[in-house]
Amino acid sequence: MSELKVKKIRNGTVIDHIDAGKALMVYKILNIPNETSVMIAINVPSKKKGKKDILKIEGIELKKKDVDKISLISPDVTINIIRNGNVVKKLKPQIPDNIEGTLKCTNPNCITNKENIKGKFIIENKNPLKIRCYYCEKVLNKIVFE
Ligand SMILES: [Zn+2]
Repeated sequence: MSELKVKKIRNGTVIDHIDAGKALMVYKILNIPNETSVMIAINVPSKKKGKKDILKIEGIELKKKDVDKISLISPDVTINIIRNGNVVKKLKPQIPDNIEGTLKCTNPNCITNKENIKGKFIIENKNPLKIRCYYCEKVLNKIVFE
């Protein structure tokens, strides 16, 4: 396979070591404005993981809250904040204790699925992930993003 060079960004955020195939999912939960320039590299060879995805977001510095959301998809990512072409900050996602929005309750009878109510969830266990809905108190049987 030929060597793939992904263009460097000058200002923004680089999310590296995303589990292969999950870059689009990460992109989706971040709710990045439509006009933002984003580079997505999928199945890039990686020493650590075999294959990985990379996401480069031009002009946006992710906040801790956004970074933590990524932990629900791919907890091993490394995040670099870039200013003037230099890494100025490194962030590691942490699984939060509770989540508002982002996820959908998997119980079809839950009030959040019947009415237009934003989901609220409590993380009861981080490894393996166990997430309980604040409203219907059911444990989510899979992770569904809104
Ligand atoms: Zn629920």
